[in-house]
Amino acid sequence: MKLTLSILSCLTGLSTLAPMGWAATHEITTKNFHITLLGNGDGPADWMGTRDWSDDQIAAVTTTLNIWDDTFRNTASRKIEATISWGALEEGVLAGSFSNYVEYDGENYNAATSTEVIWKEGEDVVLEEGEMDFRLQFNPVYGFSTGNTTPQNATDFISVLLHEIGHNVGFNSLNDTGTYGEYYTIWDSLITDAQGNHPGDAGFNYQTGVSYTIGSGGLTVYNPFVFAPGSSMSHVDAASDPNALMQYSIGEGIQRRNPSDQEKALLAEMGWVLKDDPTYYASVDGASITDQIDLNFFTSVLVNRNMTIDPGEGATIVLPSLRGDKAEYNVTIHCGESADRQSLQHRHGLHLRRRGHRQ
Ligand SMILES: [Zn+2]
Repeated sequence: MKLTLSILSCLTGLSTLAPMGWAATHEITTKNFHITLLGNGDGPADWMGTRDWSDDQIAAVTTTLNIWDDTFRNTASRKIEATISWGALEEGVLAGSFSNYVEYDGENYNAATSTEVIWKEGEDVVLEEGEMDFRLQFNPVYGFSTGNTTPQNATDFISVLLHEIGHNVGFNSLNDTGTYGEYYTIWDSLITDAQGNHPGDAGFNYQTGVSYTIGSGGLTVYNPFVFAPGSSMSHVDAASDPNALMQYSIGEGIQRRNPSDQEKALLAEMGWVLKDDPTYYASVDGASITDQIDLNFFTSVLVNRNMTIDPGEGATIVLPSLRGDKAEYNVTIHCGESADRQSLQHRHGLHLRRRGHRQ
């Protein structure tokens, strides 16, 4: 059975009895998120939780948030505020994401989720009273598993949650009714028709059933002949990437616990700085770089996660051999033409970073 992951849906009230011994509202804070798990009866009327959360589910939420935390190097201006609850969703819909969009003056787009603005762009978005950066709901009708392996008769909770948060970090179209209006996201701006037009261009004429590419990595967008609100145009077409996290549906027993390599490449095109993109980072953790590095190819040197040194034009970085014991290195950085030197010690490897593609 294939079930749909939706980014939009209607809400109606639904009450279920919570199993004994489960916890009510919980707050989870990670590096970039402050999440409120609404328990049964908690939250505003439109978002009232209809079930409580088990310890295993609370732990799985933290695990999932950490996966996104560990995907990017971008520095958020503040934590992403969100609620997650169990609530009534349309039949066949496993979970839904409701994003807070804001106007944003992008190069070829004019709207973004507040999550993107806060985290990717590092700019603040002020929330109104009671507003959230996003609200997620899980459909309590379906059986979710939080185990390391997912039984054939259950849906993987972590995969679904990771997917729904994915809509907020950029996998989202503002063509959610079968037509484009005034606003376009950066995801929309990367969609291309056979003539090379993008949504927002005069020559772009949206039609259902047409295969549109997105980004430059060979992905296409899910766009069935019958427009599916909440699914069409905001998902990766499985035919272009069977490993995609952002497929519109997921089968029971299946785990997708990371964005795929192609999706990560697309996120980089959207402006995210990935932690593990070899295009951006020359890692010396593996002791493959032991000689002088031409910093003409890099605009900054990331010595550890908390320290960035800009050595300036024409600088070189001299690394000692990192073979053998890598517990502690000495790194000497020569800054430009000057004789300035800094000696740095760190314990967990060193990454070189460049801003933007050079090819
Ligand atoms: Zn989705």
